[in-house]
Amino acid sequence: MADKDCIFCKIAAGQIPCTKIYEDENVLAFLDIGPLSEGHTLVIPKEHSSKIHNCSVEAISAVAAVLPKITAAVASTMGADGYNVLCNNGRAAGQLVEHLHFHIIPRKTNDGVFTQWPAFKYPQGRIEKLAVEIRAKL
Ligand code: AMP
Ligand code: ZN
Repeated sequence: MADKDCIFCKIAAGQIPCTKIYEDENVLAFLDIGPLSEGHTLVIPKEHSSKIHNCSVEAISAVAAVLPKITAAVASTMGADGYNVLCNNGRAAGQLVEHLHFHIIPRKTNDGVFTQWPAFKYPQGRIEKLAVEIRAKL
């Protein structure tokens, strides 16, 4: 069900314009108006949910079914060397629009778009303990 205050629901309903690149019954893809690189695309399920963990299996499946062809078209058009598919969930993760969406960000070698990937090493025993805790919640 659409959220009356949600900008992406309004775009999905055609009430707010977008630069559309793909549409079917359940999915819409359009160009981001604040791109990180040219061709930066957003892919959304039309059904409103705010995050991956509260969207329906049908909605996420509909997006997954078309992501390969949309990413291929975007990357090829932009002559990209690679691309990121990114989904920000929650304000702490950089989510500003609270309607589930996937960014497709075309990349060029050494483009400097993401300059940080702060990987670290777990202390002894921590990785196994975390896996036990996460598995218990599945
Ligand atoms: P996020 O920070 O993951 O919530 O990303 C939201 C994205 O939506 C940003 O990259 C915005 O530039 C983009 N955005 C917001 N409003 C619009 C709009 N009306 N049309 C296209 N992109 C939008
Ligand atoms: Zn919405």
